[in-house]
Parts: sequence; structure tokens; C-alpha cells
Amino acid sequence: MIPTSFEYLRAKNLKDALKAIGKNTKVIAGGHSLLPLLRFRLAQPDTLVDIGQLQELKGIKQAGGGMKIGAATTYRELLESRELGTLYPLIAEVTEHIGDLQVRNAGTIGGGLAHADPAADMPPVMLVLDATFLLQSKGGKRSVAARKFFKGPFTTAMKPNELLTEIQLPAPPKGAGMAYASFEQAASGYALAGAAALIAIAKGMITRAELAFTGLADTPFLAPAAAKLVGTSGDELISQVAAAAVAGVEANDDIHAGPEYRTHLATVAARRALTQALERAR
Ligand SMILES: Cc1cc2nc3c(=O)[nH]c(=O)nc-3n(C[C@H](O)[C@H](O)[C@H](O)COP(=O)(O)OP(=O)(O)OC[C@H]3O[C@@H](n4cnc5c(N)ncnc54)[C@H](O)[C@@H]3O)c2cc1C
Repeated sequence: MIPTSFEYLRAKNLKDALKAIGKNTKVIAGGHSLLPLLRFRLAQPDTLVDIGQLQELKGIKQAGGGMKIGAATTYRELLESRELGTLYPLIAEVTEHIGDLQVRNAGTIGGGLAHADPAADMPPVMLVLDATFLLQSKGGKRSVAARKFFKGPFTTAMKPNELLTEIQLPAPPKGAGMAYASFEQAASGYALAGAAALIAIAKGMITRAELAFTGLADTPFLAPAAAKLVGTSGDELISQVAAAAVAGVEANDDIHAGPEYRTHLATVAARRALTQALERAR
């Protein structure tokens, strides 16, 4: 289908963009998720505000032991950052498997997070890393924890007049290992079910354990069951924790996987991610 007609505005700077966005506008960064929405007429904005070239929204920098990533930074740019790959190898590992070369060249981390596809790979990574998202409107700024950002399928805590401008990552805990395991839908590469894990150990005992899922339910979520690993050496409990983490979750049901199969895949992904994170922490 052909999109409905709209005005196109290429923002010259962030201030320009913030002034232009609001009711009946849509922001475009890389366009990889938005263009299909326009073509299917699932989005019918009056104005498209292009933020893809804004230098203010690009870049990766170190900050207080952690890192800050501009929302319009492309996946390719994430992969090219040695500092990011060293401090958060999990981000590089996951990014490498997002879409294909074209998607990674133009798609942005902010666009992917703002789009909030319930099967996207990056949201569970943001949950286990305990990222914070900086949102800006022409009225000011506010920070929202990634853990409070994803509200439902394609729905976030952002207001229509807000832009996601920066992803802030705290310093990873000392002695942390991280991993992601997923079962991909063959055509798109999106996760039928995926799990990200972070485990920190000290003197052989687990001091922190985080586990988050994607693809399983209508929104990515953090599994409280991972806390059961804290204070243990891990190995014997991992299968139990993986099963407990998905128990009672209303699993998605679509042409690619029914709820029972998806729950099984999520359990296996959780087990693999926790096991690998633990090995890496050691
Ligand atoms: C063929 C293909 C394969 C893919 N495979 C995968 C995969 O395996 N795993 C995976 O996780 N993803 C996958 N994706 C999705 C891809 O990650 C997203 O399309 C991409 O990250 C979106 O970023 P973008 O810059 O293109 O966003 P756009 O398409 O420009 O925007 C997406 C949405 O976010 C909004 N938006 C964009 N930037 C901002 C901002 N800074 N603040 C507020 N709102 C904003 C837009 O208004 C729009 O609603 C795939 C996509 C394609 C086309």
C-alpha cells in the first residue's frame, strides 16, 4: 500500500525536532520499523519529523564508569565502538544478530526501543543492565528506568511530545558475566523467545542475578525468580530458576509458535543464558 500523505520535516537540531513533535506527528530515525507502519497505514501522521541525522542524538561516551548512547546511534555504530564492546559485550553480541546488514546500517538503538516490539532483542538487554532512558520534550527532560518504560506491545511510557534522546547504562557490577540466548523466527530474526542474563559473583558465590525475557509475553519483562540464585553457587538451581521464571506467564500465541511451545523455548533460552552468564562471570 501507499502511505497517506504527510509533510516531511528534516529537523536541523534537537530544539527544532522538539518544537515540531506532538499530536499527529511521527518521528523517523532509520525508518526500518516506521516505513512498514506507514505503508500498511497503521500510522497516518500529518507530519514526519526526521531525526536520523541529528548529531546531538548520536554517539557513545563513557560516563561515571558506565556509558551513554545517543538514541539515533545506529546498530552499526554500536558494533564499531570498542569501548562499548569491552564494557558491555552483551550489547555487541546481541546487536550482531539484529536483522541484516541494511537493518544494522540504518536502524537505531533508540528507534528499536521506542518501537517496543514485544519480540525485539535489545529490550531484555536494557532490563538486565538496568538502563535509564532520557526523554526530552520542549517542556524539559525526564529519566525513565528501562524497567518502567515498556508498557505493552508497541507501547511505552513516552508521551507523544517526547523524544528518547539518550540511553544511560550504569557501570556493570564487578565480576559480572552476561549472555543472551534466543530462538529466532527464521524469516525476520525476531525472537520467538529470548532471554538475557547477568550474573555477578564474588568468592564463588552469586551476588547479583538478573534475567529478562523477550518474545514470550506482550512486553519484555524482568523475572524476579532470578533472585533465588543470589547467595548460591548457581549450577544446581539454574534449571529450577528458568522454569520458575516463566511459570504463570501468559505466553504469546501466533502463527509462528503457540503458548506451550513458546514457554518451552523461553525456559531453554533462560537456562542457556544463565549458564553462559555464570561461566563468563567465573
Ligand atoms: C528486515 C528486518 C529485520 C529485523 N530484525 C530484527 C531482529 O532480528 N531483532 C530485532 O530486535 N529487531 C529487528 N528488526 C527491527 C529493527 O531493530 C528496528 O526496525 C529498528 O531498530 C528501528 O530503528 P529505526 O531507527 O529504523 O526506527 P524508525 O523505524 O525510524 O522508528 C521506529 C519507531 O520509533 C519511533 N522513534 C524512532 N526514534 C525515536 C526516538 N529517538 N524517540 C522517540 N521515538 C522514536 C518512531 O516514531 C517509530 O514509531 C528488524 C527490522 C527489519 C526491517
